[in-house]
Order: sequence, then C-alpha cells, then structure tokens
Amino acid sequence: MSSDPRETHRGPSSQGSRIDPYVDAYAARAQGMVASEVRALFAVASRPEVVSLAGGMPNVSALPTDDIGEIVRRVVTEQGPTALQYGSAQGDPLLRERICEVMELEGIDAVADDVIVTVGSQQALDLVTRVFVDPGDVVLAEAPTYVTAINTFAAYQARVEHVAMDDEGVIPEALEERLGRLRSAGQRVKFFYTVPTFHNPAGVTLSPQRRVRVMEICRRFGLLVLEDNPYGLLRYEGEPVRALRADSPDNVIYLGSFSKTLSPGFRIGWALAPAAVRDKLVLAAESAMLSHSSFNQLVVGRYLAEYPWQEQIKDFNEMYRRRRDAMLGALEALMPEGVTWTRPQGGFFVWVTLPEGIDSKSMLPRAVGERVAYVPGTGFFAGDDGHRNMRLSFCYPDPDQIREGVRRLVGVIKGEITL
Ligand code: PMP
Repeated sequence: MSSDPRETHRGPSSQGSRIDPYVDAYAARAQGMVASEVRALFAVASRPEVVSLAGGMPNVSALPTDDIGEIVRRVVTEQGPTALQYGSAQGDPLLRERICEVMELEGIDAVADDVIVTVGSQQALDLVTRVFVDPGDVVLAEAPTYVTAINTFAAYQARVEHVAMDDEGVIPEALEERLGRLRSAGQRVKFFYTVPTFHNPAGVTLSPQRRVRVMEICRRFGLLVLEDNPYGLLRYEGEPVRALRADSPDNVIYLGSFSKTLSPGFRIGWALAPAAVRDKLVLAAESAMLSHSSFNQLVVGRYLAEYPWQEQIKDFNEMYRRRRDAMLGALEALMPEGVTWTRPQGGFFVWVTLPEGIDSKSMLPRAVGERVAYVPGTGFFAGDDGHRNMRLSFCYPDPDQIREGVRRLVGVIKGEITL
C-alpha cells in the first residue's frame, strides 16, 4: 500500500490517478468525512452468492407498485403545474398535515407548522448538527449508535461521547454520571442523540420507566434531545411505546422517516422541532437545497391520503416478524456457547456479542469467503470499541436465506473459537 497521504479512498470503479491534488485545500471539517465501513461493505455483500446480513435495506418488493404507479400518474396529470415546480424549504403543507397524523400513532400531538420535511431523516440529522454544533462541541450518543449519525457529527467536528446501554436501552445512571462529569469539566454538550425505539444497531428499545427517567435527567441538565425514530412503527410484538417527544415538546427534536414504512426511494423524512429551532432548520434547508422535490412530496402525500397505509405497515410487520423469528430461531439453535445477542421486538437489527478473543472485523474476510456478510461492531462507535460485536440485519433476505446465512456464520465463529 502507498504511504502517500494524498492517496484517496475511492471505490473500485473510480478511474485514473488515485493522487488527490486538492488534499491541502480541503476545509478542516472534510478530514472528518470518511467512508463508513457499512458502505465499503455493500460492494462485497451484494454479490449474489453472499447472504447479506449486513445492509439495512427495507424490502420494497412488498410494496403495491401498481397502486403507486397510478398515484404517480395522477400527480402528473392532475397536479402537474405544482408537482413540476419549485416548492418551499419547509415542505408541502398538506404532506406536513399527514405527517402529524402519522406521529399521532406514537402519542405525538403536533401541528403541521412545526414540521419541516427533509431529504430522509439523514438530512434532518445534518441540518440539526449544522445549526447546533461548533467544532469541539460535545454530542452525546448511545454506545453503540447509528453509523451515519457518527459520520455527520464528525463532519461538523463534534466530539462524540458515548453513554452505555443495555437490553432496556440507554442506562439513565450512566447518562446522569456522564453529564455531571462533562459539566464539571466545563464541556459544552449540545444534544443527546438517541434512537430509543428498535435501535440501530443494537435492536433494543428504551423501556417506558427509563423514558421518564432519561427525560427528567435531560430536563435537569437543560439538555436538548435529538430523537431519531425511523423504525418505531415496525413493531412485531409487545405494547407500543410513546415517543420521547410525546411528553416533552419543549426539549426534543423528533426525526421521522418514510424510508422504512413506505420507501427510501422517495427520500422523504421530517423533523418536528420547537418553533424557534424549526425556523433555523428551514433556513439551513434553504441554503442546502432551496426546495424539496415537489413531485415526491405530492406522491407521498397522496399515498397517505388515498391508500390504506396503516394496512401496508401491518403487511410489512408480518413479513419482518417472520424474518426476525427466522434469525432468532437460527441463532438460538446454532450459536455456540459464549455468544450472546439482543432480541428485538421490532426494527431490523440484532446485535451480537462474541466471546473474548474474537475480533469481528478481522473475521469478516473469512465470513465473506463462506458467503455470508455482516457489519463489524467497530463502525458504530466514535472511539475504539465494538471489536467483539457485529450487527446482523434480517430485513432483506427471506427466512430460508437468513437461516442459511446464520448457519454459515456459525461455522465461521466456531472455526475462530477453535483456532
Ligand atoms: N436514522 C437511523 C437510526 C437509521 O437507521 C437511518 C437509515 N438507515 C436513518 C436515520 C436515515 O434514514 P433516511 O434518511 O432514509 O430517512
């Protein structure tokens, strides 16, 4: 490998020289922009012979494409002049009304005026970070946390501090202790980023008792909470929980998305924020992209108005429940002693902990050689952690493929144990 610092990390398809002549010209923040391990893995995992338990892609083949096609046709023929024109940076008002109805399912009472449509919830993460974070500011996040959130925070030169979690989600005492320590050290904490329901990558859900405790602690420390909830409606068992935002309208920015309950192809998510914050987010969105795709918003708005979308989510949940059961059943039946894993009630992910001495990252090439892929745990931490962990997702392969993937993975792990 070259030791030239100008060598870039481009994908296998890039042409020409790998020397980057602009290396001295980039802003300091660009140094925090690095390709995620998940992304680098996609090329390998998408080979047909590999069972990918790696990616978090929703199974869009279950969608009613004929009905969506009819909606698209009518948006063009009946609403063409609006659909094909610029819109606003806050987003279509009727879509924002519908979004409020979606949020009602998790106990949120909101008005359309406080909602801003975003390009997936990923753009909302970017806008919130842009509006709040100066270089060196601390952002708190669960340990582990969503990999692309880490990348976004790094791109704005935030310092990510992790807070421990267990099977019931983030541990309130750990949060309180960390906040106390940061306050004594004079550190500025900008917000607590959390995925409280069906966590990515841990698969766990913050219990109702802890929700109350966590919000009480954050209120006491005057801390803003960034609640990222793309999976909340994908529940396969157990009682629904109220969103954190439902009972704390003043110190929570709530992020939602249609990527998992409809399709990531529309790239429509949203943020619900206190009014002053919302104004800043709209201004930031305006400078980022002027306006949204009017067309996509009208299609999704019509889908929500005219299609039985709650029934569609029930169908998704049936399908994903079978896949989750296939994965948990196979893990239970085949995994050797010393391996543990979480048991998600919804969402897409299972978080596996391997016995001492096994490194999930160095094991990955052997796994791919055995035609199974996963995401090593290290990518989900800002620091050096997660070596004994891996994220398995059950959203995309069918139940038979999942069982076969777990069987192959178990073979690889057993090989590591006897090495
Ligand atoms: N947050 C979490 C926790 C996610 O898992 C994802 C998607 N993988 C996102 C945000 C971004 O989703 P989107 O931009 O498609 O709404």
